[in-house]
Amino acid sequence: MTTKEKSIEERIDQLHADGIVDLHFDMPMDLYEKRYRTNVLATDFLPELEAGNIGVLGAAIYIEDRYMPEMGLRVALDQISRLYTEAGESGRFAICKSHEEILDAHKARKIALLITMEGVEPLGTDLNLVRVFYELGVRVIGLTHARRNAAGSGGVFAASGSPRDGLTAFGRDVVRECEALGVIIDLAHISPAGFEDILAITTKPPIVSHTNARKYYDIERNISAEQIKMIGERGGVIGVNAVLVSPNKAETTLDRYIDHVEHIMTLIGIDGVGIGFDFFEFIYQQWPDSKKREVAAKFTTPHFIPDLTNHSHARNLTRRLIERGFSDAQIEKILRGNWMRIFKELL
Ligand SMILES: [Zn+2]
Repeated sequence: MTTKEKSIEERIDQLHADGIVDLHFDMPMDLYEKRYRTNVLATDFLPELEAGNIGVLGAAIYIEDRYMPEMGLRVALDQISRLYTEAGESGRFAICKSHEEILDAHKARKIALLITMEGVEPLGTDLNLVRVFYELGVRVIGLTHARRNAAGSGGVFAASGSPRDGLTAFGRDVVRECEALGVIIDLAHISPAGFEDILAITTKPPIVSHTNARKYYDIERNISAEQIKMIGERGGVIGVNAVLVSPNKAETTLDRYIDHVEHIMTLIGIDGVGIGFDFFEFIYQQWPDSKKREVAAKFTTPHFIPDLTNHSHARNLTRRLIERGFSDAQIEKILRGNWMRIFKELL
C-alpha cells in the first residue's frame, strides 16, 4: 500500500468511527420468512453490517402482496416480534426509540435498529393502531409503497400516470397522528399529489428515507428538483437509494450514485442529503424467476451497483466520495450527521 492509499484508508476509518446511518433496509420481512431459524441477524446480516461500520439501520416493516389484505396486521406484528427476538439473541443490536437510545447503543458497541414502516397496510383503516405501533417502537412511517392503500397511492415507476387524488381523509389523519406522537413521516414512494398534501399538513422537517433524483431516473417513484427543494426549504433530509440510480445497467455505477448526492447538494446544500441504501439484492436473489418477471412487468428490472450492493461495500462509497473531492466534514454529514440531526429534532 502506498502512503497515499494508507492515508485514505485511515480517513475512511475515522469517518466511519461513529457508525453510518442507513435509513432503509428490508430486513424484517426476511427475518419473518426465516422465522423457523434462530440467530439470523447474527449469521446473515451482522458480518456485512460490521464490515461497513453501520451504526444505525432503518429496519422497514413491509407487507408483500401475498399477505394482503387479511394477514397484513398479523405479519407486521410478527416482523416486529422477530426483530426483538433476534436483537435479543444476538446481543449486538439495540432497538432504539429516541436519539438518546441511539447514542447509548453506540456507546455499548451495538448497532441501533430504528423500526420503520413502508406502507400503512398493517393499519387497515384503524387510526388507533398508529398508537399501538408507536408503543411497539415504530418511529418512521411512510404512507405507501407502490400500491394504493387506505391512506393514498404510491408514485408509479413511469414518468407520469400516478393517481392525482393525493391523500385520503384517513391518510391525512395518519399524518396528523404521527406528528402528534413523534413518529417521523417518510415521503419515500408517495405519489406527487400525496407528497404535496403531506407537506401542506405537516410543520416539522420532512424526510425521504430512500429515493433517487428524477434527473437521472425519471419516474414518479423518484423525486423531482422541485420536490427536493421543498424538502430543503423545510430543513429536511433525503436518503439516496442505491437501487434506482439509473434505468440503464451500464450507468448503474458508484459514480452515478454520487451524482445523485451531488445533485441534491447543489439544490439544497450539504445538510439535506443522507443515506437510504435500500440494499435489496439478497432478497431479489431469493426470488424464483417467475417473481422476478412479475416485478419487472409491474415496476422495473432493478439494477444493482456492482461495488455498492450490500453493507460491506460502504467503504467503497466513502473512498469514492474522498476521491471526488468531498471534504471530511461533508462526508460526515452524508454518512451520519444529517440523519442524527433529524433524530435529535424529531424523536
Ligand atoms: Zn422502498
